[in-house]
Amino acid sequence: MNQRNHLGHTARKRFGQNFLTDTHVIDGIVRAINPQPDDTLVEIGPGLGALTEPVAEVADHLHVVELDRDLAKRLRHHPFIASKLTVHEGDALKFDFRQLCQDGKKIKVFGNLPYNVSTPLIFHLLTFQDSIENMHFMLQKEVVVRMAAGPGSKAYGRLSVMTQYYCKAVPVLEVPPTAFKPSPKVDSAVVRLIPAPPRWPADNISMLEQVVSDAFNQRRKTLRNSLKRKISADSLQQLGIDPGLRPEQISIEQFVEISNYVNQHGS
Ligand code: SAM
Repeated sequence: MNQRNHLGHTARKRFGQNFLTDTHVIDGIVRAINPQPDDTLVEIGPGLGALTEPVAEVADHLHVVELDRDLAKRLRHHPFIASKLTVHEGDALKFDFRQLCQDGKKIKVFGNLPYNVSTPLIFHLLTFQDSIENMHFMLQKEVVVRMAAGPGSKAYGRLSVMTQYYCKAVPVLEVPPTAFKPSPKVDSAVVRLIPAPPRWPADNISMLEQVVSDAFNQRRKTLRNSLKRKISADSLQQLGIDPGLRPEQISIEQFVEISNYVNQHGS
């Protein structure tokens, strides 16, 4: 059931609204973001302003992207920080983050993300990684664990490979359900993502995405089987990769090697 909170707003489940109320957690996130007055800051899903207000105290200006029309209107009329805000009312999944990157100055993105769209949102943001200095997001803890997982771990998958292809992923803070109203059913965590040029660049990024997706779609299968439409077992051997391995045993560098091979030789 939707619950009306102390600010008179009824949390909308369909927008993934769980508002942060724990001041220690809010302070911890703001410290992690470490906003500076002249940063180009962008918040996704500002909601009732739990993070927006303390960040706007330090920053000269702040862009916010909010889908909920009522909340966007509230922020435009915020009694203390409205003059520092540019409110972009709309869907962050469709937002062009590059437009905010001016005179070559990269943006810093943060938010307590709506959990129902957090993974597609991260994939959308990764397409702007060359315009982004860093990102801080509150996510379901399980998603943060997957993002930061390395080969050999159960949590290692498509999200780990694609996130770490573009960024360094560092978990910063764990957050219990009691820090929010209404409380989500799951534990949460804050992750810091720092984009960096890929150490092993893929010749064709969409081929890398396809290879990784095919491999992990059937994660219990060996590469010989899951990638058979793209690359033969012999070619995997030639690359020095055992075709009998499962995808969770394959490093990002090896996924890039496979995808560059398929890109060059055709699938
Ligand atoms: N930042 C606030 C806080 O920490 O209390 C609110 C966080 S709440 C988990 C998620 C926020 O994202 C809500 O304000 C919701 O309306 C907004 N939202 C949901 N889907 C969105 C989307 N696709 N684009 C932009 N904002 C969205």
